[in-house]
Amino acid sequence: MKVQRQISVRAYESEGFISRVQRCIRESVIPYQYQVLWDRIPGVEKSHAAMNFVNAGRALRGEDPGDGFYGMVFQDSDVAKWLEAAAFALAAAPDGELEKQVEEMISLVGGAQDEDGYLDTRFTITDRDKRWTNLREAHEMYCAGHMMEAACARFEVSGDDRLLKIMEKNAEHIYRRFVEQGAEGWPGHPEIELALLKMYRATGNRHCLELCRHLIDVRGTDPGFYAREEERGWNVWGGWDGHAEYTQAHAPVREQTDAVGHAVRAVYLYTAMADLAAETGDETLLAACRRLWESIIRRRMYVTGGIGSTVQGEAFTEDYDLPPDTAYAETCASIGLMFFASRLLENEVKAEYADVMELAFHNTVLAGMQLDGKRFFYVNPLEVDPGISGVAAGHRHVLPSRPGWYPCACCPPNVARLVGSIGKYAYGENGDTAFCHLFAAGRVRFDNGMELTCETGYPYELRVSYTARGEGTLAVRLPGWSRKTLLRVNGSEIRPEVRDGYAYLPVSGETKVELELDGEPKVIRPSVKIPRLAGMAALKRGPLCYCFEGVDNGRVRALRLNTKKAPRVSEFQPELLGGTVTLTAEASRIVDTDGSEPAGLYSDAPERTEPCEAVAVPYYAWGNRGENEMRVWMNT
Ligand SMILES: [Zn+2]
Repeated sequence: MKVQRQISVRAYESEGFISRVQRCIRESVIPYQYQVLWDRIPGVEKSHAAMNFVNAGRALRGEDPGDGFYGMVFQDSDVAKWLEAAAFALAAAPDGELEKQVEEMISLVGGAQDEDGYLDTRFTITDRDKRWTNLREAHEMYCAGHMMEAACARFEVSGDDRLLKIMEKNAEHIYRRFVEQGAEGWPGHPEIELALLKMYRATGNRHCLELCRHLIDVRGTDPGFYAREEERGWNVWGGWDGHAEYTQAHAPVREQTDAVGHAVRAVYLYTAMADLAAETGDETLLAACRRLWESIIRRRMYVTGGIGSTVQGEAFTEDYDLPPDTAYAETCASIGLMFFASRLLENEVKAEYADVMELAFHNTVLAGMQLDGKRFFYVNPLEVDPGISGVAAGHRHVLPSRPGWYPCACCPPNVARLVGSIGKYAYGENGDTAFCHLFAAGRVRFDNGMELTCETGYPYELRVSYTARGEGTLAVRLPGWSRKTLLRVNGSEIRPEVRDGYAYLPVSGETKVELELDGEPKVIRPSVKIPRLAGMAALKRGPLCYCFEGVDNGRVRALRLNTKKAPRVSEFQPELLGGTVTLTAEASRIVDTDGSEPAGLYSDAPERTEPCEAVAVPYYAWGNRGENEMRVWMNT
């Protein structure tokens, strides 16, 4: 049973850093993505996602389906994620124009739904006879899942249940087929499972819960399923025998031990498993989640909270295989890692889960978006060398600058919906206890009547001040990275009751809680088990990972950090990178006798260095000042 649960999106009103990112999503990203969905931005990758719904509606009415279907099999999910992000944006600020766009889009989605509840434009416009014939790669349940999430978001925020009803009918269609009629298989891309739990909570329809449990239980129980499916029908990316691990179907989920395969699929599955475990008290499922969590964060996660080490299958590889320059670290995967962490927190309140959620958010997830919200990274490397990155064999996936859109555009709308609902990840509640998982400035109203104001310049100012009004307990995370944390209640320093990294503070009337976190920059050393990184170091301060860019440092590869001396922390610089704090480290630079860069491919001359300073900026803000070299891990 849930020990605490996410708050409603409407219960949190953001300020400070979070509100700046949310405003960018509202004012730039959502309108931009709307235009992209309608192919109205010249020079940007064609989407056609909205027209697919128009054309599917035409096909269902027996009309000419216009220019047909275009895009990936999961193109529908771009509309779904935009709808979800738009729903959350409308919770923060009314917007008549956006409201109209949302209502129109919901009408298009409804118009593309078949009488039996089926909804997927790819198989409505073409190949109607091939519905449900390729669960492994056709993404029908994946698209349905995203649209269910959009429906739940819309309902939660506005009470409008039009899309919810459409998706409940769709869920019933899938329930009939896979539970009542016993059709075999499970979706190759997990997503619908976590969405069905949201549907269950929004509608109370137990079929949603049963279908979720069925799809989780049946996954990986039949090793011959994919082969039979391939024999029977068609496939998108056939001729490869690694599908079982790639789709986390190599074993029943309760027997899985290592995080394997496509990283986004993995964390979406684990999220649903953790959520179902919390919903039903399923201990074996929770035990599997704990093992998979350990596998990720102890052995398979980048220092930036990125996951998925290889472009090959966008996947996890082996323990400690965390190459900085060919990393995949998809934005969506870190978003999924936040989902997983948040659901684990609903099973057990432990600071480690929230620490990772915070790490992923402030580094890889935010790096996925240019500061102006106009361009996006799909892949989030820890090292970029223009001329090699994005060009050389093995490095083509590592782009040195953010494109405007992608043929596979999963990440940009995923960032938008995550940021719009960040309050859910930041705050939780259970009975008279209010939980503060992330330090997110703004106001929160909890169901128990407690009101909380959080004032902070986080993640740059590592002081957080809460004012709680009401009766109950305030549970505040003491982050694992903070070596010295001071806590004051109504002005007096206290030693609170601390369990699993959370301080539990009784509050009554108006209570002021102040938290002073460790603001010292940290030199991070990698495990010697990680190839290539031994002897290197990275800089962090608070939740932020830092990186070194060419624009500040010239040739970054020629630098060696002096890690014996603590880096200097700058004042807050409002004009730099949307407002930031830099770190300046003592360093030495490899030079020729005249101070220039040594020429020649190799040399037997004695190495010369000259002392210099190296400036680091937060990783999430890299690549906002033109194409240049970037490194997280530095030689020392
Ligand atoms: Zn993605």
